Amino acid sequence: MNDSTISRKNFIRNASVLVAGGTGLLGTAQRQEGASDGGSEGALGVEMTGSGDAAAVPANAPGTPGSGDQGKKNYSFKNVRLETGFDYEDNEVAHTRTELFIVKVADGKIAAVLPNDPKADAIDAGGRLMLPAFKDMHIHLDKTFYGGPWKARQKKNRSVRDMIALEQQINPELLKTSTFRAEKIIELLQSKGSSFARSHVNIEPTSGVQSLKNLQQALQNKKAGFGAELVAFPQHGLYYTASTGLMREAAQMGIDFIGGLDPQSIDGDIERSINFTVDLALEFNKGIDIHLHEGGDSGLRTVEYLIERVKAQPALKGKTFLSHCFVLARLDKAKQEAIADSLAGAGIGIVSTIPFGGTIMPIPTLYKYGVTVLTGNDSIIDHWNTFGTGSVLQKASLMAQLYGYSTEFDLSRSLKLATGNILPLDDKGKRQWPKVGDKASLVLLDASCSAEAVSRVPSVRTLVHEGMIVYSV
Ligand SMILES: [Zn+2]
Repeated sequence: MNDSTISRKNFIRNASVLVAGGTGLLGTAQRQEGASDGGSEGALGVEMTGSGDAAAVPANAPGTPGSGDQGKKNYSFKNVRLETGFDYEDNEVAHTRTELFIVKVADGKIAAVLPNDPKADAIDAGGRLMLPAFKDMHIHLDKTFYGGPWKARQKKNRSVRDMIALEQQINPELLKTSTFRAEKIIELLQSKGSSFARSHVNIEPTSGVQSLKNLQQALQNKKAGFGAELVAFPQHGLYYTASTGLMREAAQMGIDFIGGLDPQSIDGDIERSINFTVDLALEFNKGIDIHLHEGGDSGLRTVEYLIERVKAQPALKGKTFLSHCFVLARLDKAKQEAIADSLAGAGIGIVSTIPFGGTIMPIPTLYKYGVTVLTGNDSIIDHWNTFGTGSVLQKASLMAQLYGYSTEFDLSRSLKLATGNILPLDDKGKRQWPKVGDKASLVLLDASCSAEAVSRVPSVRTLVHEGMIVYSV
């Protein structure tokens, strides 16, 4: 890296928007393969300061907010490595083929994918691999310690009800800085290649709808470089604390999903709680994403009752998710298969942080039956957990290690966990991304192919969100 390259630390501390020029330094493998195809101009980065993505940006910077040409976002990358197919040995995928291309971006979308021209007037991707931007599909951007000092979680407060009592104490204080901290955590996610998140946001009597308002302010400040969908989350129970009125209010405040929490162990009534959630989602045309930590009979009955209700409501198919759903890990194999089949039939997805240790989720079984599987960091650093890195590519890597997805093919497929199920190649090795008209939300990183990216979790060098170059080192 040369002197003009931005340090990651500075990005995290100060930057809102970074402007990419040439991104010349090649990884070792790319330098060998790509040296004759492209130049290696010095990397160029400009650090911006300020709290908003609309901060002043050099007028000649392509695809950046405030460039005097906002919304146009027309430019090209050259020396872009894209996957083009699989090579087989003994009927097994042995290698992923790649070639260098020019990728044109216009109005936030992929405008063309053309044969490479190293001399083109374009931003030099330096032979780096282009992948779809990552998506963190389960996180709590509204309540985090991130942006403040390190603090590990405490041994006490183990149950969800303990945690509710703790939140009733600390949330008023957290709300004072929650907009700032949400912006910091968004910058962390961006630095790890995510330009989109599904964030749960606390809706409960202690915070009212203020946590939602504070997060919406942070998202507004960051909207040029980051997208989100929001889940109104009754973190303190719908009935355990009186939250149904607030949930109705939140449903009319620009959220996308109605959340839920452990209907039996927190609210004491599976049907009453699920019925409220489903009915509210139907009334306001929202999706559903329910935190389900509880196991045992009540956990299973919750899953089965939700399946029953969603099957009867086609509008909710494909828009309903269970987050965590640890109960699936505790079922016997035959029951896991039966439930996976039912979930797929009802169009209900599972959002998992890929836990390990005592709880191994049946992710391979979910994939086998075609259940949509998503992942997220959940917590980066907060009172619930302290292990989040911000990288969902790391989650894909953990999944591959945990379930033995170690072949070229299996590793390449595992990338979908990080991208919200977009893969550059289909299972036959035909290129399906990027296509003209796709959103120009992408990353560039030092890897020769998806499989290597999942295996090694290289640093993300460039992030583009809907044509906007957010971050480049
Ligand atoms: Zn969560």
